[in-house]
Amino acid sequence: MARLSNLPNFHKKVLMASTLLVGAALLWPTPQEFSVQRIPVALDLETLIPDLNDSVPQADIYEEPAPILNHVIQEGDTLSKLFEMAGIDQKTMYKVLEADLEVLALDTLLPGNTIQFWDDEAGNLAKMELYFNPAHQVVFTRFDDGTFGVEDINIEGIWQNRIIGGEINGSFYLSAKAAGLSAAEIAKVENLLKTKLNFARELRAGDTFSVLMNDQFIEGVSTGNTNVEGVEIHTGRRNISAFQFSDGNYYDEKGQSLAPAFQRIPLNKNYRLSSRFNPKRKHPITGRVRPHNGADFATPVGTPVVAPGDGVVTLVANHAFAGKYVVIEHDNKVKTRYLHLSRFKVRKGQRVKRGQLIALSGNTGASTGPHLHYEFHVNGRPIDPMKANITEAKTLPKQKLSEFQSIVRSRKMMMELG
Ligand SMILES: [Zn+2]
Repeated sequence: MARLSNLPNFHKKVLMASTLLVGAALLWPTPQEFSVQRIPVALDLETLIPDLNDSVPQADIYEEPAPILNHVIQEGDTLSKLFEMAGIDQKTMYKVLEADLEVLALDTLLPGNTIQFWDDEAGNLAKMELYFNPAHQVVFTRFDDGTFGVEDINIEGIWQNRIIGGEINGSFYLSAKAAGLSAAEIAKVENLLKTKLNFARELRAGDTFSVLMNDQFIEGVSTGNTNVEGVEIHTGRRNISAFQFSDGNYYDEKGQSLAPAFQRIPLNKNYRLSSRFNPKRKHPITGRVRPHNGADFATPVGTPVVAPGDGVVTLVANHAFAGKYVVIEHDNKVKTRYLHLSRFKVRKGQRVKRGQLIALSGNTGASTGPHLHYEFHVNGRPIDPMKANITEAKTLPKQKLSEFQSIVRSRKMMMELG
């Protein structure tokens, strides 16, 4: 650094920036590995450059006030208890819950996550932050009228590939575990290939497997978010494989889909669409944007609600505004939510199949009449379920097939090197 001290400030920054760019380029995935969801965010070089100008007056440095409560979530914590610990009343808690309807983040807090509260001079709750991991935070901020706005912060970070492979020695589970795959990753792989391979009967000692994972990092720290991009299993008799395409779905090498296509709506019959998805909807009184993140169907109380695709139930909860609701995470990175239900037909952690009954519709929570509110999220963002690009074909169409095949070629090359 001493060498740089004679250079004008601008030149120092350019030099640092180019060094960082070279560094970043080395970490970059190969161009073939890009997909819409995988483009790492451009590095904000200004923020990465250490401040070389050491004459900043002390008063210019903004210091965030200390939170009134900084709490690591423990088993058994409830929202009421946390607000009580922060000395914030229940009326304010309901205002926060009202804002939470837009993101439904409060029920997803797990032991180890952090919650922070800040107040203003009048003692009102000014800000509340939920810290899930380095890639995901949710911030509630008070408006002058005492209602709250919410911001769902998802940081894309950098995704890096990891290749795990080995020989079968004992069960697939034990062999994959020994090679370094987690139990959840093994379950994902077994589920992907379950229609192609009988894991319990068809594998023999000496058969080989290779899995291409993609892991998320923020500032060098793993966020725990991970994705299976490709699987290959070679048995004495045949090769079985699955690769993920940019639509999130998995296909074999010929471009044949491995899972049944999604159904458009989670209902067995069509019902009138009583309110459409609308990201710009305005609150009738405050005039503030209160997005409608789903589509509402005019279902009478007790109407069967079914899973539109295979997946795992990640949440079964009761919310002051969303009512009884269910969240399903599907294998193709899609997450779906069902609000204002009357009865649950699944448990948290349960694996469900396309068309399986998950709940009965209702009128619970803040609801103006019986209906089903259905949300469809891709990569953590709500999109219109009626317009979502749902792959309904069993085989990739010709114009997509060549793109898919080039992805497969480059991934297979990586997997062979690993
Ligand atoms: Zn709705």
